[in-house]
Amino acid sequence: MKNNKLCMIPGPTPVTRGIQDQMGRETVAFKDPVFVDDFKSVVIDLKEMWGAEEAFVIAGTGTLAMEMSIANTLKDGDNCLVVTHGFFGDRFIDMLERRGIHVDVLSSEWGKVVPVEEIEHKLRSKDYKAITVTHVDTSTGVKADLDSIGKVVRKFEDTLLIVDGVCSTAAERENLKEMGIDVLLSGSQKAFGVAPGLALLWASKKAMNRREGLGTIRDSYTDFYKWLPIMLDPMKYWGTPPVNLIWALQESLRVIKEEGLNERFERHTKTADAIRVALDSLGFGILAEKEVRAATLSNVMYPEGIDDVEFRSRLAREGVVVAGGLGAYAGKLFRLGHMGNIDQHIIVSTLAAIERTLYSFNNDVKLGESVEKYLRETL
Ligand SMILES: *Cc1c(COP(=O)(O)O)cnc(C)c1O
Repeated sequence: MKNNKLCMIPGPTPVTRGIQDQMGRETVAFKDPVFVDDFKSVVIDLKEMWGAEEAFVIAGTGTLAMEMSIANTLKDGDNCLVVTHGFFGDRFIDMLERRGIHVDVLSSEWGKVVPVEEIEHKLRSKDYKAITVTHVDTSTGVKADLDSIGKVVRKFEDTLLIVDGVCSTAAERENLKEMGIDVLLSGSQKAFGVAPGLALLWASKKAMNRREGLGTIRDSYTDFYKWLPIMLDPMKYWGTPPVNLIWALQESLRVIKEEGLNERFERHTKTADAIRVALDSLGFGILAEKEVRAATLSNVMYPEGIDDVEFRSRLAREGVVVAGGLGAYAGKLFRLGHMGNIDQHIIVSTLAAIERTLYSFNNDVKLGESVEKYLRETL
């Protein structure tokens, strides 16, 4: 019998039956009173749960949310500081430059982070209107120290802190008010465990004030002011809301509230630690330095002599799909997502499939070793 395919890449992540069912519902008019109420409650939940002044849910991907975050806060000629720990951090550079924004970049070696003192020093050097930080860079599995960065950025009245949370929101702690974040952006398909297709964005009062100061901006689809009336009253229209995806997000938020946000963060940390102990027992390494590892994914370095493409295709035959490495790490590691709505069954099956695959390369592998380690770590 063919194995069920588990989608263990860093997004899309496994979508629970309950969330899938929302996508399978009969689609209604976007002014249907039931849907309007549901949409309203989604926006209110997002604002409350992440401590934001405003929240936006629009059809698009995380990349659109990145674009939206800068379109509403920066203009031609402004200075922006990009702090990057990999591929997704770098993505902001081109996006900003296309808008005529002056970009300075602080980047780290892959697997490490830029020291916070360096960020503070740079912020003192000129008038930056914003700084972008990727909370978890999916290319490296590195997590930025947002608490410390937030404290530093608060010292600069004119600087907005824009955080890419596509690979962290709903799995790693993020709160605009508590952490001094001005714009947080994310997507539906990673730690929310919804299918791809929603761009999510949260804004602070300071970010909304900045938007006001910009007057009419060039962008229309991504303009906060086009969407704000709808977010406050979904009976209004600007672009057709993705009805079924919004229902799916509502179910995801229900699941998150049922678990509890803090409990969810703790589960992710605990799970990630245990998975790494298990993988270590099989001889795999982890790209990110120990102190800066994200809870949402692992960038897993192969032991000597394992061919990446062959490993991943054998693993897929075992029923587990993982992603390849990016940039200089293509061929050297695979990326394993462990975020969102994944339970013990999924993790144990994933580890067992990794073991079986590794065994097919090397019969010295002790079957059951990593699963036992995982179980012990999570007792
Ligand atoms: C996946 C990802 C993106 C891009 O999101 P899309 O939904 O693929 O457009 C941006 N930033 C980070 C950190 C990501 O992990």
